[in-house]
Amino acid sequence: MKCTFYVWTVLLLMTISSCINKTSEVVSRDDKLASKGIELVVLGTAQDAGAPQIACKKDCCASRFDGSSESFEVVSLGVVNHDLKSSYLFEATPDITTQSYYLNTVIGGFEKQVPDAVFLTHAHIGHYTGLMYYGKEALNAKSVNVYAMPRFQAFLSSNGPWDQLVANENIVLQSMSSGKAVELEKELKVTPLLVPHRDEYSETVGYLIKGPRKTALFIPDIDKWSKWKTPIDSLVSVVDYAFLDATFYDAVEINNRDISQIPHPFVIESFEQFKDLDTTDKSKIHFIHFNHTNPLLNKDSEAFKRTIELGFKVAQKGDRFAL
Ligand SMILES: [Zn+2]
Ligand SMILES: [Zn+2]
Ligand SMILES: [Zn+2]
Repeated sequence: MKCTFYVWTVLLLMTISSCINKTSEVVSRDDKLASKGIELVVLGTAQDAGAPQIACKKDCCASRFDGSSESFEVVSLGVVNHDLKSSYLFEATPDITTQSYYLNTVIGGFEKQVPDAVFLTHAHIGHYTGLMYYGKEALNAKSVNVYAMPRFQAFLSSNGPWDQLVANENIVLQSMSSGKAVELEKELKVTPLLVPHRDEYSETVGYLIKGPRKTALFIPDIDKWSKWKTPIDSLVSVVDYAFLDATFYDAVEINNRDISQIPHPFVIESFEQFKDLDTTDKSKIHFIHFNHTNPLLNKDSEAFKRTIELGFKVAQKGDRFAL
């Protein structure tokens, strides 16, 4: 079993290292002009509940509720092929309405009602409940391809209201398995990777998204890095961009409880995890999936400044990357 795992890891690293390019470039931000080739775009950066979060009475959300500071949509990535006018959505969040609209603006005015496929990571509210907008009460979509792991598919097929979407063929569930690439287009492949997380209703996966020139890694939710059999540092070194779980920054957000007991890699733990990576590899890491309390949502915070000074990046809606 162990042997199989290592063989698989080596094969995976060899496959994706063929497209290494040692730069991590943000193409543009909020650039609505159509460009060429395949691009990845950040559509949302918050944890499942968004920011502001329902009923939050702390300072973090006061100005978000009254509109005097920015609100943040739930974590999501989009991928577009400008030449084929195709688009793919990673996660179906409660903000799917505005995120789908934004994804369309990136393709430059091409009016697509739905993406060519949706890839889901797991069955926690921020990551799949946006599927409801494909149903009868909203778009009443026709056969949207939705990729999900086997247990997640069984959950969607046998629980309301999701089973209605399946029965009415608003969505068509597509199978995938961990470590096996789904070839979407000649030069676009998506590979799910099982990761440890709270798996009440489904497995949890992250994704490798491989374009003609570059590869992105997307892991919005994971338990501590040490709990994953795959060495995250090695994986970061062979991709070009890594969008990684940064739910909490440090213990202050959880009233100074023991961070080792909370099943996410805190950002300060990730600093430690990645401290030996070289500058180029550090610059590939874009933190994402921020709890409403996370100071990285505030560009003026000390935490934000420290993250940038250490050579990492903080994902922002509208960031675009060539793949
Ligand atoms: Zn989440
Ligand atoms: Zn808050
Ligand atoms: Zn989760």
